[in-house]
Amino acid sequence: MSWFSSVELGPPIEVFQLTKQFQEDDFPQKVNLGVGAYRTDEGKPWVLPVVRAAEKTLANDDTLNKEYLPVLGLDLFSSLSTKMLLGNDSAAVTENRAFGVQTLSGTGALRVGAEFLATYLGRTVFYYSKPTWENHRLIFLNAGFKEAKEYRYWHEEKHGLDIEGLLEDLNNAPEGAVIILHACAHNPTGCDPTQEQWGQIAKVIREKKLFPFFDSAYQGFASGDLDKDAWAVRSFVNQGFELFCAQSYAKNFGLYNERTGNLSIVLNNAAHIPAVKSQITWTVRGMYSNPPSHGARIVAHVLNSKDLFEQWRGNIQTMSSRIIEMRKRLREELETLRTPGNWNHITEQIGMFSYTGLNQSQSQHMVKKHHVYMLKSGRISMCGITPNNVKYVAASIYETLTA
Ligand code: PMP
Repeated sequence: MSWFSSVELGPPIEVFQLTKQFQEDDFPQKVNLGVGAYRTDEGKPWVLPVVRAAEKTLANDDTLNKEYLPVLGLDLFSSLSTKMLLGNDSAAVTENRAFGVQTLSGTGALRVGAEFLATYLGRTVFYYSKPTWENHRLIFLNAGFKEAKEYRYWHEEKHGLDIEGLLEDLNNAPEGAVIILHACAHNPTGCDPTQEQWGQIAKVIREKKLFPFFDSAYQGFASGDLDKDAWAVRSFVNQGFELFCAQSYAKNFGLYNERTGNLSIVLNNAAHIPAVKSQITWTVRGMYSNPPSHGARIVAHVLNSKDLFEQWRGNIQTMSSRIIEMRKRLREELETLRTPGNWNHITEQIGMFSYTGLNQSQSQHMVKKHHVYMLKSGRISMCGITPNNVKYVAASIYETLTA
């Protein structure tokens, strides 16, 4: 007899399964467009030079030790992170109405924030965009939310934002519902609202008394400009919203496996901060007790030095401009081949991902016939495209759509 005989096999996680299949494939021209991680022009992972430099300095600092960090993490890290998100001159910062909590990357920030909202504010309903990053639903349900709802986002025919559908769905949301919003570079569509559309979204959220929970996984990585990519969050804060924002340093610092993130919390009354902080301390205490230090020390070291900060901005530029260039090249190749359809969306979308418009069977054909690994939804990671494989990828899409 075993206690475990009743456990059934769980479904695979698509993106990890795809990477495994890619690794096992010995086709020489195979291309991995599944994984959401930066690659160089040579298709290699990249440790940011500024991160290497910071690691060397930290390794030689004998005053640092391996003692536990506080439950809410490294203060310098979380306060600099919140300032980076909101801007140094943000009223929320100067009026001490905002603070940060160091978390286990962006996922951990979402989880801590969601659990706090479910436990201490009794929130039960959350909304995520259709489609969204596949983990939002699971994180919020595991955190204690009861009802997962979608708001319309992607318009199939327009290959763009379904703003009418989005506004209608938010308009019908019950008071107090938590609305997950991608701060920039929407994953998986690469399609963000315009500033005017953000204004419309803010209006509904205010009128219907909903709670905005931003997810900022790509600040700086999307456009190359830290301020531009924080525009939506800052505009909500400037309009006086109370909000949460999950920040990840996986992409913009390349610290994927260091699990370095921050939960920024903006309130409209500084007097509420001590109580909120104390209860979040208990949320974290019961979840993982306290966070790891390595990634947070690197980020704090860089954000705290004018010189290293500039170097980091240069590294971000390198990554974002390579991706923007690859978008241009892919579109050019597709248009040169006269691939059926309109390919404007490839260059109009922003960030790491692009929704190609290929349907499920076409995406699977790309994998099976051409060894171009992409998600069933038609999402590709632009990071996997290089000057060496862009023609091959375009030709594969052409064949798939004309076969
Ligand atoms: N949110 C979104 C939209 C993402 O794309 C990601 C990364 N794939 C995350 C959050 C969190 O990632 P991490 O936990 O690695 O920071």
